[in-house]
Amino acid sequence: MLHYDFIYKKIYAHYGPQRWWPADTAFEMMVGAILVQNTSWRNVEKALENVAPYLYPKRMRSLKEAQLAQLIRPSGFYNIKAKRLKAFLHWFRDHQFDVCSLKGKSREDLRKELLGIKGVGQETADVMLLYGFDKPVFVVDAYARRIFYRFGYDMPGSYDPFRIEVEGDLSQDLLFWKEFHALLVEHAKQHCKAKPICDGCPLREHCMQRMG
Ligand code: SF4
Repeated sequence: MLHYDFIYKKIYAHYGPQRWWPADTAFEMMVGAILVQNTSWRNVEKALENVAPYLYPKRMRSLKEAQLAQLIRPSGFYNIKAKRLKAFLHWFRDHQFDVCSLKGKSREDLRKELLGIKGVGQETADVMLLYGFDKPVFVVDAYARRIFYRFGYDMPGSYDPFRIEVEGDLSQDLLFWKEFHALLVEHAKQHCKAKPICDGCPLREHCMQRMG
């Protein structure tokens, strides 16, 4: 079976660099990572527009949970997400809102800390690690699962074994992991949708599930 980076090479050549995450600061990135849970990025953009004046940790922390919920309403599940943002801000405050010193922690320690925040699951924690704290990690989301299974890889069903299997010895650099996740999302949106459009797919030649 072809190595996982075959997929990377093919989709990188097809779609080009994605340069994720679309945010000006690590804090904005992490707010976006919570807002995007169970919704599309388009809805997140609307919520981010509303909350733009508060995209600073102390300022956002000064908002009451109900005010924050109203501002992020377009992202859906806004009451739950406001609670999660508050929990994240509480944790961030405990670390003096200091992204630089948090970056100094090991990937495993930081992952454990993020997973300890209420409402931050494995996918959200890994997206934060990768794009907010510059830690190399493979993000296992529904798109990655769909593409890897369809392509023909016999992947583990649960999150961490899937992630560890793809990461291998983590010998690739940070940019590789940043691009890999972004490219898989792009590929799932353009070709490997719920109903795949296999015509013109860059993986078609080797894909076990190609249609037509
Ligand atoms: S050939 Fe079809 S099923 Fe396979 S990766 Fe491409 S779009 Fe998905």
